[in-house]
Amino acid sequence: MSGHAVIPVERFAARLERARVVARRQGLGALLIGVGADLRYLTGHIVLPLERLTMLVIPAHGPATLVTPRLEAVAARQAPAALAGLFDILPWDETDDAAAMVAALVRAGAPGPASAPGPASDAAGFSDDAGPTVAAPTVAVSERAWAVHVLALQRALPGTPMSLATAVLRELRMAKDPAEVDMLLVAALAADRVVDQIAGGRLVGRTEADVSREVRDRLVAEGHELAEFAIVGSGPNSASPHHEASERVIAAGEPIVLDIGGAYDGYCSDTTRTLWVTGGDPAKGPTAEFLALYAVLQRAQAEATAAVRPGIACETIDAVARDIITAGGHGPNFIHRVGHGIGLETHEEPYLVAGNGELLRSGYAFSVEPGIYLEGRYGARIEDIVVCGDDGPIVLNRSSRDLRVVPG
Ligand code: ZN
Ligand code: ZN
Repeated sequence: MSGHAVIPVERFAARLERARVVARRQGLGALLIGVGADLRYLTGHIVLPLERLTMLVIPAHGPATLVTPRLEAVAARQAPAALAGLFDILPWDETDDAAAMVAALVRAGAPGPASAPGPASDAAGFSDDAGPTVAAPTVAVSERAWAVHVLALQRALPGTPMSLATAVLRELRMAKDPAEVDMLLVAALAADRVVDQIAGGRLVGRTEADVSREVRDRLVAEGHELAEFAIVGSGPNSASPHHEASERVIAAGEPIVLDIGGAYDGYCSDTTRTLWVTGGDPAKGPTAEFLALYAVLQRAQAEATAAVRPGIACETIDAVARDIITAGGHGPNFIHRVGHGIGLETHEEPYLVAGNGELLRSGYAFSVEPGIYLEGRYGARIEDIVVCGDDGPIVLNRSSRDLRVVPG
């Protein structure tokens, strides 16, 4: 399965409108969306994060405007939401004050001053009968906006309270629509093919870094525009969950944790499989201890996945895996949360972690990736991307979750 899917343009209109609705509900005057996944999500506009300010101003009650460097205006006009007339483009020249332009749009988009609070105002200054009485509009800024831009905006909008636009956008971005699920599936299947290719190739005698380069090349060959990470943790390095591929040479008779992913048409893949390389020597197969550890892990991953359904808490999915691993004697060796949301970013909300009582809803997409790590010795992890379907889990990754015992 391959090819390049696109988000239907009506979706951008619906997303922008929904963002306004949620912003109004939260009493915000405007959303300020800088370069990154939020901007891509709302408009389809893809632009490099640079020192020149690019910012989409979405007044809660009015049309959106993209303030963009003039040299990027042509590209901005090609964004799907721009072609559909869903936002205006306001280019700025090198000598203009772009932050002041954003501030002017915020002020222009703010509703007129509400009537003065009447005598019903209580001692704390709150009124229970008047509408919002704030003189300065309250704005929310996308979380990946650079500090250099946010500080300039703070100077241009003195006295304006600023919060994170994540409070608005998380609600939209967590629940994937069918087009997004399709794109996550295409990315997942491409990553699966790379796992199978690597598992079937030569590994023993090569460095982790060499294999990692091959993983990146293959992710791109399978359609990813970006190979974001290619963790190759061999032997004792398999016990370090975010191990950087090193110059260590892979030997027969040890495991390799392969955790790979990137972006495919903007949507991220992220999958982990554990291999055991024998070098073709039957005497170098997995130890009984490792097989037992892996059996516990595989059951934990399967049960946590099976527990996925609308209305279950994020922390419960973590607990399902953790309880099984704890009962298997490895509780202290499962040293990270069970999963993270995924979409236009590899790590996004929701996080499946103890303490997060948020309930899963249909369309949420996330990883289920328990691991067991015996520091200094070896470890294992299994990771799939799972979508919460109406009736239960939809598992996007399809490659075998069994321990891959390969000659390498
Ligand atoms: Zn991963
Ligand atoms: Zn992950």
